[in-house]
Amino acid sequence: MAGKKVLIIYAHQEPRSMNGSLKNTAVEVLSEQGCSVTVSDLYAMQFKATATRSDITGNLCNPKHFNYGVETREAFRSGNLCKDIAEEQKKVQEANLVIFQFPLYWFSMPAIMKGWLDRVLIQGFAHNYPQCYDAGLLKELLSTLQDKLALLSFTTGGTEEMFSKEGDSGDVKYLLWPLQHGMMHYCGFKILTPEITFAPEYVTENRRKEVLTSWAQRLQNIWNEKPIICTPP
Ligand SMILES: Cc1cc2nc3c(=O)[nH]c(=O)nc-3n(C[C@H](O)[C@H](O)[C@H](O)COP(=O)(O)OP(=O)(O)OC[C@H]3O[C@@H](n4cnc5c(N)ncnc54)[C@H](O)[C@@H]3O)c2cc1C
Repeated sequence: MAGKKVLIIYAHQEPRSMNGSLKNTAVEVLSEQGCSVTVSDLYAMQFKATATRSDITGNLCNPKHFNYGVETREAFRSGNLCKDIAEEQKKVQEANLVIFQFPLYWFSMPAIMKGWLDRVLIQGFAHNYPQCYDAGLLKELLSTLQDKLALLSFTTGGTEEMFSKEGDSGDVKYLLWPLQHGMMHYCGFKILTPEITFAPEYVTENRRKEVLTSWAQRLQNIWNEKPIICTPP
């Protein structure tokens, strides 16, 4: 859809990985639609994953007892956040849709992506209790008041059967809950159905190509999708 802005937060070390191909597919299909697509390639950027004192460039409110949440909230307000955080916040602010593309690490996202959330989606910018969940500060694109959308696209080592109710890993909805509800929805995003690529290492080349084709087809129609309910299971 021409004019829409998409931000892809991408966490994989290897461009030839399945995650790399899923990311490339999204860039190609969405760009062809006339969307403006920005990729934050976290490993290539060597994105700092740790939430530390150096994220604040000015004086601290309380130098005797460092509180990251309080200090970053105040630094956001006064324009004293370090450059890499401010740049990512600008990309988030402008995006209609944020796609998170990553391999599942320990039932969650890789540390570098979790660090992006810790450092970018800070209080005052993304949430400010009681402005959370449906009232989260990222609930809409300020210029158009359209819903801001988030979509998790991830790969797993385990098969779909392993992530079923009866499988060893348990129902995948339990790991989606903290990611979709606790993180994205908390900040106000509306959530689109996750794109889960199960066990790409253990399927045939043809199957992987089918998965990429199906992802491309889904993306053709992405702007007509309705958000899902992602409250606790
Ligand atoms: C620290 C850590 C923790 C983990 N924790 C979990 C966990 O909790 N649960 C779990 O299930 N898994 C876990 N895993 C496994 C991990 O999720 C998988 O290894 C990962 O998701 C696989 O995706 P990939 O992109 O890295 O695959 P890759 O190995 O990069 O790709 C798979 C195959 O796809 C091929 N490919 C790439 N592009 C294309 C294309 N265009 N067409 C056809 N083929 C292509 C590649 O050549 C490769 O053969 C963990 C792994 C690590 C390292």
